[in-house]
Amino acid sequence: MSFVRVLDSMGQQLSPCTCEKSQRLLADGQAELVCDDPYTIRLNRVISKTPEPSHEQPHPAGQTLLLHICCGPCATYTSRHLQEQGWDLTGFWYNPNIEPQEEYQKRLLSLKRLAEQVSLPMVWDTTSDSDCFHDAVLGHERFGERCAYCYRLRLHRTAQVAAERGIGTISSSLLISPYQNLELLREIGIQEAAEFRLQFYFENMRSGYNARTRLSRQYGLYLQTYCGCGFSAQEAEERRARKTASE
Ligand code: SF4
Repeated sequence: MSFVRVLDSMGQQLSPCTCEKSQRLLADGQAELVCDDPYTIRLNRVISKTPEPSHEQPHPAGQTLLLHICCGPCATYTSRHLQEQGWDLTGFWYNPNIEPQEEYQKRLLSLKRLAEQVSLPMVWDTTSDSDCFHDAVLGHERFGERCAYCYRLRLHRTAQVAAERGIGTISSSLLISPYQNLELLREIGIQEAAEFRLQFYFENMRSGYNARTRLSRQYGLYLQTYCGCGFSAQEAEERRARKTASE
């Protein structure tokens, strides 16, 4: 009997299942095919193998934090939430993973619009040359695997800029996303922050995801339809095509 590789929606590897079961999951719309070789399906929900990491609360009153921001929508809730906790917050834009250039510009403008409306202090690194992203993920292009290199690229730069500016803690707006691997973000964030003798602030902010969508509409922000890199754009396109074909 052959088995099928199974991921959950965060890219966590689960126990393999039989071909028959994978076909049932695909037919029911509970999963999608992400790779033919090895044959791999991704469930459309998160399976919690261990208790989800949640709060690791420091006492932030007045402490400085540089928040890496992946896009305007994810910054809506996360920036407000962290400021409400008492952090002295500065946002940081650095996302050379976003492709193509038109999409990069849309997301950049969207965050500029938000930052202006909510008076969020920002540092902008508008390096949009995706070569550094492709160099970083070279040889690790599979979904899940490449994200680790993508996180590291962005969080390394965040830590570097925080250290230059005397900001003691870093974090990321990616921590709101149900599509990102929070355990991996935490691990990489801690490592990159430690390299510069900084702290990484981790909190599972997914409970704010619905508020993110509502706030994005309220601020008139562009809502993207894929994670960011060209690979994720292509995967999203393929998912849409499969969905259309099955209707
Ligand atoms: S899917 Fe998203 S997190 Fe993963 S490599 Fe692409 S842009 Fe980065």
